Amino acid sequence: MRKKLAAGNWKMNLTPRETVEYIKLFRERIPVERTYDVALFPPFIDIPFLMGNLLERRDIHVGGQNLSEKESGAFTGEISGNMLADAGCTMVLVGHSERRQFFGETDELLGKKLIRAFTSGLLPVFCLGETLEQRKAGHTFAVLDKQLTALTDVTPDLRDKLILAYEPVWAIGTGVTASPAQAQEAHKYLRERLRGLWGNVAETTRILYGGSVTPANAKELFGCADVDGGLVGGASLKVDSFQAICEAAA
Ligand code: PEP
Repeated sequence: MRKKLAAGNWKMNLTPRETVEYIKLFRERIPVERTYDVALFPPFIDIPFLMGNLLERRDIHVGGQNLSEKESGAFTGEISGNMLADAGCTMVLVGHSERRQFFGETDELLGKKLIRAFTSGLLPVFCLGETLEQRKAGHTFAVLDKQLTALTDVTPDLRDKLILAYEPVWAIGTGVTASPAQAQEAHKYLRERLRGLWGNVAETTRILYGGSVTPANAKELFGCADVDGGLVGGASLKVDSFQAICEAAA
């Protein structure tokens, strides 16, 4: 019912030259006919190098790691949703914990970014998750509820385009992975909350898990009932390991 998605978030890694080497290898390793979707989220400057070397492989989605909430104008250093779409992107990350933590992105701002993503024709991958302190204090679900307020202005016609990524902050880049039971518990909660807010569309909304996914743990995580694939940071930087994670989504 829900097609799994293996998504690689390169963060601020891989130069244009390295991007070209990566994609030449990756496009040979990943078959066109698959049961799962694949997406890569490179730094902005790498996007044309990725697109230019995908050849006919439009089955490999490319997305931005961020976008401006504004449409266009005097916002030095920003990238618009329309620019991403025009460059060939089909997706965009919104609300990655590093954007929240290091760039002060709030739930209110992220709500605007989500709308901008939709109006630019991009599928937003909306990231959310709790810190270790919040989990230890028993606040995980309350934190997720608050982060879900960014969805308030998403109108019914757009709701089937949303992808969620549950990314517990304590698992991102730490080598500590949520156990399959912890991941499933949070994903189930998110789907129930989404069902309460939006109804049946929750059944088809993909919810990715992110946080130290590796070839060793991907299969078990992706096997959980409400885990519809992964958002992978470090392990997506090498073709071998990301290929193995993609295959775990098969
Ligand atoms: C991420 O960047 O979204 C992420 C989950 O990183 P890592 O896989 O390295 O923990």
